[in-house]
Amino acid sequence: MNDDFTARLKAYEGRPAAATGVGRDPVNAPMIRHWCEAMGDENPAYRGPDAVAPPTMLQVWTMAGLSGQAGRTGAYTELLGLLDDAGCTAVVATDCEQEYLRPLRPGDEVTFDAVIESVSERKRTRLGTGHFVTTRTDVRTGDGELAGTHRFRILKYAPARREPRERRPRPVINRDNAGFWEGVGRGRLLIQRCAACRTLRFPWLPGCNACGSPEWDTVEASGEGTVYSYVVMHHPPFPAFDPPYAVGLIELAEGVRMVSDVVGVPYDEVRIGMPVRLRFERCDEELVLPLFAAVEGDGG
Ligand code: ZN
Repeated sequence: MNDDFTARLKAYEGRPAAATGVGRDPVNAPMIRHWCEAMGDENPAYRGPDAVAPPTMLQVWTMAGLSGQAGRTGAYTELLGLLDDAGCTAVVATDCEQEYLRPLRPGDEVTFDAVIESVSERKRTRLGTGHFVTTRTDVRTGDGELAGTHRFRILKYAPARREPRERRPRPVINRDNAGFWEGVGRGRLLIQRCAACRTLRFPWLPGCNACGSPEWDTVEASGEGTVYSYVVMHHPPFPAFDPPYAVGLIELAEGVRMVSDVVGVPYDEVRIGMPVRLRFERCDEELVLPLFAAVEGDGG
C-alpha cells in the first residue's frame, strides 16, 4: 500500500529462504521409473544403462518427504509474517518455472539452496491485493555444478470480500420427499412416521428402516432441537454461500436428526449440545428453507 512497506519487503530479496539441503537419495532408477509411469512418459532416454532423469523431476530430488520438511529459515518466515500483519493472510501458489543446465543421471548426489529472489510491488488481482514472492532453488550435483533452477512463486494477498452472486441451490423434490417440501411451503416441518411400528424417520424415505412397511403418516416437529454435531465450512467457497459458516446436525426434540445451517449466532460460537429452534428463512422469491437458529440468550 505504501512505499515504506514495499521497501521493507524488498529488503528480503537475496536472503536464504531455506537451509541448504542434501538430496535424501541420489538420483535413482526406481524413482525415475515410478515418475515415468505416473506421467505416462515412455521416452527411451529415461531407461537403460545410459538413462538420464526426466528434467522435470528436478524438484523431486530436493524433497524432504513427509518426515523431514526442510526447515524454512527465519527470513522467509519473517517475510510471510510481515505480509500476514499487513492483512495479506491468504496464499496461493501461482506458478513454477524451471531451467535445466545439465542432465541428472542415476547415482548423482544433489545439493540445493533456496533464496528469496524477488518480492513484487503491491498488485491488485482478482483474488485480492497483495505481493508476489518468488523463491529460487538452485540444484547442484556433488561436484558443485549447477544442474538446474526451480522458481516457485506465491501470491500473499488480502482476500477480496466475496459477494454472494448466485441463489442457493434448489432442493431436488421427488415422489419420496414431496410431502416434506409441501409441509415447508405451509411453514411446517414434517417428520415421517411408520404407520405400522410408529418409528419416526428423517430424511424422508419410501419405507421404514425398522420394519420395512411402506405405509406412513407424518407428525409435525415442535421446532425445538440441539446441535448434535457441526462443521465450520471455510473452503471451498460455493456460489451463494459466504464462508465461514456453521453447518449442524440438529437433533430434533422428537429424536430424529437433520442437517441445517446454524444461524443467528457467529459460526465460531456454535457448540455441541447448544439449544436451537426452527426458523423458516426466505432465501429468495421462490425458496424458503427450514433452518435452525441459536435460542436467544444462549451464546454458548
Ligand atoms: Zn415401521
